[in-house]
Amino acid sequence: MDDKVKALLERVKGTAGHAADAAADSARAAGKRAGQMMDTAKLNVQLFDLNGEYNDVLRQLGQVMVETHRGQAPENALVTSLLSQADELSLKISELKNRVADLKRVQTCPVCGGPCGRGDKFCRACGARL
Ligand SMILES: [Zn+2]
Repeated sequence: MDDKVKALLERVKGTAGHAADAAADSARAAGKRAGQMMDTAKLNVQLFDLNGEYNDVLRQLGQVMVETHRGQAPENALVTSLLSQADELSLKISELKNRVADLKRVQTCPVCGGPCGRGDKFCRACGARL
């Protein structure tokens, strides 16, 4: 690895704490928004868009790495912004994936532990109220 790329990676490490804070805030906001939208199909469409955005940010970061290697030093602000976008997007993506998984999950009966559908009012195995 050449020194320019090493220096870039050092800068990347230096931005980690701040970016993580910003990303956590935005993940909370994303969680709230996702909570208002209970539809799996809508969530999947949003996931598709977010994955596209995420891949674009990763592509730009890769470009910064190559340009750095070629001696074109990137703007600090650009690197910081791309990194926090990457953090934000990956947190939003995992938040939405959790919501989709949650919507698909069957619930467990608190009495017998048997599997029941999310919409069920009574346990299919023991008849307990859910
Ligand atoms: Zn039961």
